[in-house]
Amino acid sequence: MFSFESWLAYSFIFVLGLILGSYLNSWMWRVHEGKYVFLGRSMCVSCSRFLAWYENIPLVSFLALKGKCRTCKVKIPSTYFFVEMSTALLFLFLVMIDINIGVAPVRMFRDLFFTALLVVIFVYDAKYGEIVLGVTWLGAIIAAFMNLKYFGFNFMSLLLGGLVGGGFFLFQYLVSKGKWIGGGDMHLGLLMGVLLGWPNILVGLFISYVVGAIVSLLLVAFRRKTFASAIPFGTFLSIGTLVAMLFGNEIVRWYLGFLR
Ligand SMILES: [Zn+2]
Repeated sequence: MFSFESWLAYSFIFVLGLILGSYLNSWMWRVHEGKYVFLGRSMCVSCSRFLAWYENIPLVSFLALKGKCRTCKVKIPSTYFFVEMSTALLFLFLVMIDINIGVAPVRMFRDLFFTALLVVIFVYDAKYGEIVLGVTWLGAIIAAFMNLKYFGFNFMSLLLGGLVGGGFFLFQYLVSKGKWIGGGDMHLGLLMGVLLGWPNILVGLFISYVVGAIVSLLLVAFRRKTFASAIPFGTFLSIGTLVAMLFGNEIVRWYLGFLR
């Protein structure tokens, strides 16, 4: 089933995902610390020593150093490892599906780009409880452009999607005076609407709430968190968005068939 060429291509995508994941890790840390530099040498978060090249190989270095800094022995957060690994696995998974369906390169690019973007939104919200507005708006602009130019969306679909996605959270935010959801969620809702369009925005929201409910029930069942609202909602929204972006049309078709 797999030729040598496809093994080579899949390995390349996996390594690309690892490198990107590693970059996203340090990018998020820098943004949060306010040390924003687009490119810069990586350093130990604890002792501020610049890392040698062999300490900065995604995955491999983490395992070789047993998750500790070589000099100060402070533990490197395991989220670093998981972000690298998940980005790589998601990239691999995506490219396999896309090659299988035989999608156009532009669709594959969109899938990879927005997966990376949603990884950032997910991790940043989970770690710091905040939605990076710059990333969200950049995503919304690129999504609108790509959807109109390459994916046959009409303007009304994007407008309606954006209004529903953004409006849904704006409404909750205003009604609850910011208690139910954070202010960042409406920006993310807008991105979802513009990326997924109408009616797929509904699929994205629905999946987010289902995932949120399942995770909350599990946490309560295992007594990990008494209050499910302690998990930032942007994490669930990014999962819902990713699933709806990849399988939204199939889900809508399945649902409509179900009604008939
Ligand atoms: Zn150190």
